[in-house]
Amino acid sequence: MAETADAIIIGAGIQGASLAFHLTERGMQPLVLERATVAAGATGRSSGMVRMHYDLEAEARLAWRSYAYFRDWGHRVGGDSGFTNVGFLQMVPRHEVEPLRQNVAMQQRVGIITSIIGADEVRRLLPGVVIDDDQVAAYEPLSGYADPTQTTGSLMAGASARGARLMQGCAVTGVRTAGGRVVGVETSRGAFDAPIVVDAAGAWAARVAGMVGLDVPVNVWRHDVAYVRRPLDIPRHIAFIDFQNAFYCRPEGESLTLVALEDGNPLQGDPDAPVDSAAIGFIERAAERIVQRLPDFARAGLHSAHSGQDGITPDQRPIIGPAGPDGFWLCCGFSGTGFKTAPAIGDSLAHLITDGPSANTDLAIFRLSRFATGELIRGEHAYADIWR
Ligand SMILES: Cc1cc2nc3c(=O)[nH]c(=O)nc-3n(C[C@H](O)[C@H](O)[C@H](O)COP(=O)(O)OP(=O)(O)OC[C@H]3O[C@@H](n4cnc5c(N)ncnc54)[C@H](O)[C@@H]3O)c2cc1C
Repeated sequence: MAETADAIIIGAGIQGASLAFHLTERGMQPLVLERATVAAGATGRSSGMVRMHYDLEAEARLAWRSYAYFRDWGHRVGGDSGFTNVGFLQMVPRHEVEPLRQNVAMQQRVGIITSIIGADEVRRLLPGVVIDDDQVAAYEPLSGYADPTQTTGSLMAGASARGARLMQGCAVTGVRTAGGRVVGVETSRGAFDAPIVVDAAGAWAARVAGMVGLDVPVNVWRHDVAYVRRPLDIPRHIAFIDFQNAFYCRPEGESLTLVALEDGNPLQGDPDAPVDSAAIGFIERAAERIVQRLPDFARAGLHSAHSGQDGITPDQRPIIGPAGPDGFWLCCGFSGTGFKTAPAIGDSLAHLITDGPSANTDLAIFRLSRFATGELIRGEHAYADIWR
């Protein structure tokens, strides 16, 4: 007879782990099935930026609620997320200064600690930066970055301590249904029964959704990341996103800086493609961008580079909610920004799964049906697509 769980979560990335953690807070004992190891997908490759600047209020709210976890991880979750508060700057081209102001105003209404600052203040926060005197940026003093693998591991540990089960090296190969509802899954290690099955399979999410006949618009998005060793006279710096030069940066420990590009991230690849190396030419492009903003980095040396793959949707927002047969749920399509919001998403989704759709509405905007009805999500004061 197949082993039975209250719910089965497919994928032990940050989303699967956060959902497992929050389901156990609500008294459920989920089974998390992971084809490889915890954080083997996008999560283990993530840049781990934790900031609240979004052009969509629903995401800004999720990021702000999640920040409360990162700030107080040991107490809220247990273990350590590796959160490091270095602050965060959002820089934009001139034609996006007005949306920047509007988005900061929206974020302030949400309660986020953020403000618009002038060029002198940017220079104080990021010594050596090239910025015009009349330019502005958004500044979040509380933001920073965390360690995605550690974060996921501690959520999984917290879930396990309350009765969740994790099976690594266990690939789901089919989802079983009977009478229009899910009853369990087939895996490389046998069958498991559950009345609820959640697709948290990252770049593989469309493949998993196809197991119940669902066609979800989740493509594969590939993103390269480099670490450079800073010259000794450049101290640890603030994290920032620079839309004007289409790249972002954050420090890593005391001597490294992570740099990645906002453009040229390939789509439509194979979720199983190897991610150990960055694309040819990426390092050179990344070096050019950072030196435009921070000329002192011309003296930096390459430490390492890798790639990662996430699921991406046509509006670059996730798909979260019930879909297909009764008991089947989607939690996927995080489009390169789903690390920082995972704590609040896991909490809200656990709420929905245990108490029903009317219990929590902050995820309603992310329903799958928006693609069929042409209601793609757009920020209230939208920037250009994040990943061009
Ligand atoms: C390089 C990179 C940098 C990023 N930087 C940031 C950032 O700075 N800040 C931010 O907020 N977000 C960032 N993101 C996005 C963020 O990391 C992802 O949105 C998030 O990690 C997605 O988590 P997930 O749990 O949905 O997917 P994943 O972490 O990919 O987890 C899915 C898991 O499902 C498993 N799986 C797949 N199919 C099956 C199956 N059939 N059976 C069993 N298991 C299966 C996989 O092995 C995988 O472990 C970045 C992403 C990348 C790739």
